[in-house]
Amino acid sequence: MIHNDKRIAIVGGGPGGLTLARLLQLSGAEVHVYERDFGKDARVQGATLDLHEESGLEALRRAGLLDAFYANHRPDAGRMRILDKYGDIHVDDHAVENAFAEDRPEIDRAPLRKILLESLREGTVVWDSQFVSMERQDTGWLMHFKNGVHAYADVVIAADGANSKIRPYITAIQPVYSGVTIVEGNIYNASINAPRLWELVKGGKIFAFGDEQSLILSAKGEGSLSFYTGCKVGENWVQESGIDFNKKDAVFAWFKEAFGSWNDVWQELFASDEIGLIPRPQYHFPLDQHWESLPNLTMLGDAAHRMPPYAGEGVNMAMQDAFELAECLTSDAFTDIHAAIAEYERRMLKRASEITQMSLEMTEMLHSADPIAQMVAMMSGE
Ligand SMILES: Cc1cc2nc3c(=O)[nH]c(=O)nc-3n(C[C@H](O)[C@H](O)[C@H](O)COP(=O)(O)OP(=O)(O)OC[C@H]3O[C@@H](n4cnc5c(N)ncnc54)[C@H](O)[C@@H]3O)c2cc1C
Repeated sequence: MIHNDKRIAIVGGGPGGLTLARLLQLSGAEVHVYERDFGKDARVQGATLDLHEESGLEALRRAGLLDAFYANHRPDAGRMRILDKYGDIHVDDHAVENAFAEDRPEIDRAPLRKILLESLREGTVVWDSQFVSMERQDTGWLMHFKNGVHAYADVVIAADGANSKIRPYITAIQPVYSGVTIVEGNIYNASINAPRLWELVKGGKIFAFGDEQSLILSAKGEGSLSFYTGCKVGENWVQESGIDFNKKDAVFAWFKEAFGSWNDVWQELFASDEIGLIPRPQYHFPLDQHWESLPNLTMLGDAAHRMPPYAGEGVNMAMQDAFELAECLTSDAFTDIHAAIAEYERRMLKRASEITQMSLEMTEMLHSADPIAQMVAMMSGE
């Protein structure tokens, strides 16, 4: 196999990087994952994820982890309610027992990460390895980490997410601001800290819309409620607004103003201090991005194609990248790793362009004057 005797480094242990590590290990590759978190128990935030048949689920099937997935997935987490800003429910998957088809099964991020981590050989993940820089050495790369450690690899794969520190070694193409900034929050012990909203979300998801703004809530299995607001603001709003996002009260003051015409029930999001908040301006890469493939360096997931989350494709794309890259690196069709990387990138860039386009259309639609009518029409197949 073309990866025989090659040391492969994957930087970033998110869903993309860990899936790739598993698939490469199944083919006998020597692979390490360098992850900046201090250990496997680092708190994993973010909403519940729905995995799609042809991408996320297909990756787990190839990884031999579908049974583990179904042992940990959350059958009712996909049940959705669509509300307007007044709190009136327009679509309710809970209303009719048999109306809900679980065609995109859901799993929380933490169990997904655990399944992938436990599938890897002992010592595969090198924790506390925050990539800082690298330089060419022999036919590969010498990587430097924040903790002062260095490591050599013949092939480096960037899976270090939206603000990848490795991407600039591949291309100078910069991200484009989508026009929407998210404030993501996680309320711990939500049945106590946000009881009305916890009751409303009913173990599933809520999509609420009004004034060209969105609010998406999802219940997690460990009892927390994750949410994210979506607002049309300028690219540098996070800095220019002067809001200290480490202070709940400062963010709450902004929320009361920005969502001032919304029903008071939504303010329960900020009722307790058991909350983590993080602002995330949403960027995407140009639809026609392209670069000359390198012989020993490539990237996957958000590092390669970040996009707003409104089509629910980010994790699915990262996992599809992982199985397509693994397929190329383990195929006899290529004479060397350079050719395998080139073919992977050709397919990945084409697919990512189409999915980014769709995500941008969803972003625009969900922040338009009447997204509820459009969503209802979309769901009824119009
Ligand atoms: C609010 C929100 C909601 C979302 N909802 C969905 C959804 O419903 N469905 C969906 O499919 N997608 C969703 N996404 C998108 C999804 O989270 C990403 O697309 C996905 O996590 C990308 O996977 P990844 O493996 O490429 O990167 P990541 O998940 O970002 O993982 C990157 C990993 O690299 C590590 N890392 C970062 N920098 C370094 C460094 N310098 N050195 C070493 N390690 C590093 C990080 O700690 C992390 O473990 C959402 C995103 C957001 C922000």
